[in-house]
Amino acid sequence: MQRPYNFSAGPAAIPAEVLEQAAADMLDWHGCGMGVMEMSHRGKEFISIYEQAESDLRELLAVPEHFKILFMQGGGLAENAIVPMNLSRAATVDFVVTGSWSQNSQKEARKYASEVNVIASGKDSHFTTLPDPAYWQPSRGASYLHICTNETIHGVEFHELPDLKALGVDAPLVIDFSSHVASRPVDWSRVGLAFGGAQKNIGPAGLTIVVVREDLLGHALTICPSAFDYKIVAEHQSMYNTPPTWGIYMAGLTFQWLKRQREGEASGVAAMELRNIAKAQLLYNAIDQSGFYVNKVAANCRSRMNIPFFLHDESRNDAFLAGAKARGLLQLKGHKSVGGMRASLYNAMPLEGVQALVSYMREFEQQHA
Ligand code: PMP
Repeated sequence: MQRPYNFSAGPAAIPAEVLEQAAADMLDWHGCGMGVMEMSHRGKEFISIYEQAESDLRELLAVPEHFKILFMQGGGLAENAIVPMNLSRAATVDFVVTGSWSQNSQKEARKYASEVNVIASGKDSHFTTLPDPAYWQPSRGASYLHICTNETIHGVEFHELPDLKALGVDAPLVIDFSSHVASRPVDWSRVGLAFGGAQKNIGPAGLTIVVVREDLLGHALTICPSAFDYKIVAEHQSMYNTPPTWGIYMAGLTFQWLKRQREGEASGVAAMELRNIAKAQLLYNAIDQSGFYVNKVAANCRSRMNIPFFLHDESRNDAFLAGAKARGLLQLKGHKSVGGMRASLYNAMPLEGVQALVSYMREFEQQHA
């Protein structure tokens, strides 16, 4: 069955093979007589699903042994509180603000840290550029430095993680990788903690992935709920309370799908990165070469995952969206805070989907230019 191409920013498209497998397992997982949603999280069936998912994610992202992988709930916004409750030590924390999501994060941290310093910001460029790490002004003795490595709304992405050690900063780097997790490899030597909701590149909403360096565990504030204390969660293999079992199972199917992906010699996340570069390039070229559409983000930090674009003549927006929907190109409307259009090209979006979008954009331009 040819499904429409779904450009949603999240919850987002899931590979058809993953959904088909989930449908096949729905009433009876591997002949055990139960669907995954009906199983005890402590039974051997679910434990095997959990262990496979954890080890596949570790392999896909090459997560070193001295990092814990936690499967939590609450999404990215809850992590905006959970991170400072665990890592701030009620002291100073630093933020680089590059768009709506890091802006949200720094606001929430003010409830838990004694001081929150925005040490660099892309605000002056309306979040179309990323402040150069060479000019950041980190606070002395900050407990951590937070960045959002892909801003889902503004469409800016750090193509390389900042090397804090090279900048003379001891604080661990915290990254919100919600909207580009598993789209490219991660340099863990530069990261203290990474978090992200699953509902963009990994599976259904309800599961949050946290990858945290072991030495950062055990410093939670006393007000931190036990279920959100990373040390407690880690000691219980993410089963201190009932984990999001369905989300973990679906993520596990996506991890298996990712492991099967090949692009030339590359496989898994490296293959996805090559594909994601090609997909994004195709769409950015189409936008840049037209006088009808525009994307304002600087070339060196354009997101491969979330591509906001605008029609020069915004009165055509509704017609553009209606025509797109009629051709099976869904959920292209931009975020309400910025307007225009946004195409999210997560791992589950094939190159053919971007080709279909680009050819529709050319056709619409010819009709309306
Ligand atoms: N961070 C980023 C980068 C996001 O894109 C989002 C959601 N779009 C969030 C945080 C918030 O995630 P949630 O809605 O799961 O709390």
